Amino acid sequence: MSNRLTSNTAITKTPNVPIEACPRCSKELIGAIEITEGGIGGLRIVTMRETSDRNWITCDGCNQTICKSCCVMPDSGYCDACFVKYRIEPYLP
Ligand SMILES: [Zn+2]
Ligand SMILES: [Zn+2]
Repeated sequence: MSNRLTSNTAITKTPNVPIEACPRCSKELIGAIEITEGGIGGLRIVTMRETSDRNWITCDGCNQTICKSCCVMPDSGYCDACFVKYRIEPYLP
């Protein structure tokens, strides 16, 4: 059996911000997400990394795009409402 690994990596940047301005505070949204796609031996790996100037998130729960200052926990990837729903509610008595 040969153990040959084939690998290829492609970096794609999301062309633009999904929307131009935050729907809540009308702040202009800048920055992008870099998507790195690689394959190792038939296994496909996709990693997403944001550029340092990115000031928005697209909520994992409701797909809404808002600026980071309009949500309490932008690092969670959720907007306020979804953060409460998915991160806090399950742990409430
Ligand atoms: Zn905002
Ligand atoms: Zn949400």
